[in-house]
Amino acid sequence: MVYIRDDNRKAFIDEEKINTLLQETKNPEKERVEDIIAKSLSKQRLELEEMAVLLNCEDESLVNRIFEGAKALKRNVYGNRIVLFAPMYIGNECVNNCQYCGFRVSNKEIVRNSLSLEQVREETTYLVNKGHKRLILVYGEHPKYDADFIAETVRQVYSVKSGKGNIRRVNINAAPQTIDDYKKIKAAGIGTFQIFQETYHYETYKKLHPTGPKSSYIWRLYGLDRAFQGGIDDVGIGALFGLYDWKFEMMGLLSHAIHLEERFNVGPHTISFPRIEPAVNTPISERPPHLVDDYTFKKLVAILRLSVPYTGLILTAREPVEIRNELMQFGVSQIDAGSNIGVGAYSTNDEEAYKKSQFLLGDQRSLDEVIKQLTDEGFLPSFCTACYRLGRTGEHFMEFAIPGFVKRFCTPNAISTLMEYVFDYASEETKESCLRVIDKEINNIKSEKIRNTLLERIERIKAGERDLYF
Ligand code: SAM
Ligand code: SF4
Repeated sequence: MVYIRDDNRKAFIDEEKINTLLQETKNPEKERVEDIIAKSLSKQRLELEEMAVLLNCEDESLVNRIFEGAKALKRNVYGNRIVLFAPMYIGNECVNNCQYCGFRVSNKEIVRNSLSLEQVREETTYLVNKGHKRLILVYGEHPKYDADFIAETVRQVYSVKSGKGNIRRVNINAAPQTIDDYKKIKAAGIGTFQIFQETYHYETYKKLHPTGPKSSYIWRLYGLDRAFQGGIDDVGIGALFGLYDWKFEMMGLLSHAIHLEERFNVGPHTISFPRIEPAVNTPISERPPHLVDDYTFKKLVAILRLSVPYTGLILTAREPVEIRNELMQFGVSQIDAGSNIGVGAYSTNDEEAYKKSQFLLGDQRSLDEVIKQLTDEGFLPSFCTACYRLGRTGEHFMEFAIPGFVKRFCTPNAISTLMEYVFDYASEETKESCLRVIDKEINNIKSEKIRNTLLERIERIKAGERDLYF
């Protein structure tokens, strides 16, 4: 274990060990790779050395085996569902100087803006009226966005009712907090608290975060440990790909997951793996020093799926449509849809706010278009929020570990939430496509009891009831 120089604490990211493992596992034998894939398919998390073997597969036939393995795991465990959510940017004021981000304090070319509670209500109403049920609220790091403010914005979002809709789950992507501040935010009823380490490589981290509170690698690395200590047991980790060697970052993500499992008995709920997108007046974002090409990105997602089979994988609208579609087959479980990352840009339809936002999105389709395309391709879009509201935290783990969980809970809930969307928001074309998928999925339900209960619930939804779940 190495000492990290920030505040002289030991870090659970052991750079020397990661580099040695990546060196020692070069040119892996086919049998070894097959054994590791078989281990994932038997629903076990991989060790660092095993991930390193997969990362070192260069031969096309071996990489194809990794792709097939990831697809099989996704099919066997998670089925066709894809959970949909939308980001809401609350404020882009920031005291940090992250060299890749348009919000950094030294960037004078963006328009700074923070939503008032009234504007939060307007943005929420807009998203509810489109059919959204799950949001992630995103905040720059600034004294204005303290824990009380974050908690207030969350409460405001939950309080909005419009038509038959409301937001049923609010996740957070904000700066690392103190234990007491996590407690305040938890009390507002949040789902997942996400913090991306950006890069797990210490020297690179220090170079890219020269000033501000984010310049402490250790404060951020242990940010989610404090979340657990503050009572939040649902956390999301992530790395920003393009800043440093992708294989090192993958080993960093797995080290982080293992650390949380060892210390708190629960791994991360989700992993995010954004690639750097061009941001206004931000040279590094135009030419990332370790650009990850599309083929490598597919490999990266497939290897993550195999390494942490019970963790949700989030892909963002930063990725172009074709890539998103392909990656969903490798085990991505959540995507955002109909996203706008301008602060206040949903309800005002403010083009300028979007253009001057954090970065530019690769996928700008509306929620309805995304749902139509997903259902045309046989996917089952889901707005389910049942586990979180029934206190079933660690739902990905349950989906994965409890036999029949997906069949009993997830698929019926996906169907009934999609049915709500059909009744309340879908365009005619999308409606048809959704109903085809819903029909097929209902016919595939083997248990007569579950099928009948679901059919009865669909009748109740038709009659105007909402929010019925298993
Ligand atoms: N300010 C908080 C923080 O940095 O943790 C949370 C909000 S920040 C806007 C959310 C994430 O955006 C960051 O963790 C980073 O990974 C990502 N990000 C920043 N610049 C980006 C870019 N140019 N392209 C893609 N993602 C970027
Ligand atoms: Fe601020 Fe977060 Fe952007 Fe860094 S990534 S400049 S902390 S908003």
